[in-house]
Amino acid sequence: MGIQRIQLFNKVYYFSAPARCSRQVRSIGTPGGGCCSYHTVPVVSKLLTPWIRSGIQLQRCNLSSHSKSASSGKQNDGIHSETVRTVAKWIQDLEKQGLPKIIVLCGAGVSVAAGIPDFRSPGTGLYDNLQKYNLPYPEAVFDLDYYRQRPQAFLSLAKEIWPGVQEQHSPTLTHSFLALLEQNNLLLRCYTQNIDGLEFLGGMSSDKIMECHGHFRSASCIRCGSPADIEKVKESILQQQGTPMCEQCHIGHVKPDIVFFGEALPPRLNLLIQNDLPRASLMLILGTSLQVVPVSLIPDWVPSSCRRVLLNRELVGNLAIGTGSHPNEKSRDLFQAGDCDDSILAICRALGWEDLLRKQNEATRIRATATTTMDAK
Ligand SMILES: [Zn+2]
Repeated sequence: MGIQRIQLFNKVYYFSAPARCSRQVRSIGTPGGGCCSYHTVPVVSKLLTPWIRSGIQLQRCNLSSHSKSASSGKQNDGIHSETVRTVAKWIQDLEKQGLPKIIVLCGAGVSVAAGIPDFRSPGTGLYDNLQKYNLPYPEAVFDLDYYRQRPQAFLSLAKEIWPGVQEQHSPTLTHSFLALLEQNNLLLRCYTQNIDGLEFLGGMSSDKIMECHGHFRSASCIRCGSPADIEKVKESILQQQGTPMCEQCHIGHVKPDIVFFGEALPPRLNLLIQNDLPRASLMLILGTSLQVVPVSLIPDWVPSSCRRVLLNRELVGNLAIGTGSHPNEKSRDLFQAGDCDDSILAICRALGWEDLLRKQNEATRIRATATTTMDAK
């Protein structure tokens, strides 16, 4: 398949798909690898969707063929050393500038090492493990109407994953790396799709985190919207004292401020996207399948000058991936296959940050007290 071209308004978009390796797909990009503007991306995505479905597999990555083609630069652990060195150099270049210009986008993959169940992986995914609650459909656990009628499924789940309670759900090396980015004045913002609160527990300040799907640090009534005392809600859920009720209207159920289906995303998200994205120089996309809009569209909304690095088990999204292995590599996008923590550790070694990383991780390890150990059982 050759290069395909679409003209839309005053911009021209190109794609090409090499016949054998879908990993090398060059997708939605203006000449020179630019990206679409905030407003045209949704239109372009809509236009391209039938095409993508008909012939080009953007979501799949043939890792075995990638291994062969890139074997010269790879270490034994599967980490591509050239890619790692390039990413480290990009970070060092920004460090010299002394301005926070890195945007991070986190998905479930950054929390896999913390034992947080992935929402979508068949067999091990959260939805598959919810069968014991006899949900009419798995997503009902995050459905507002269902919670109103049968809150037990969500309450049981919340007890299981409440942040900061169980030692095995401690922040991962990737979360510690994000805290180091902030400490070194490199971080513009971390957008996360996760509700496990591990970015915060890993040492980042709440100002630097945009938890797109909410968090467990506050709670409110689903009927009147009044804020509730989060400590009381937490105790009620962990001690299985029944559904927390609103102390203002007295008839509404209270839940942590996790965004359920049918609820609006936090208004802060829209504001930050508009303010942050034009200022980004480097975007790190970590452990996400980029399947949930609007967060999945953020990589398409950064300026064409912004470099993008995907650390994930497989290639996803619309990145024009380079390997970093060629001296004349012009691509602004890089992809490193594998688990996030392995890639992050390699990058930290290249930066000389490994000791700092491990100290940060140790300092934020969750230590279960006697009470919380009992609670967790
Ligand atoms: Zn209420």
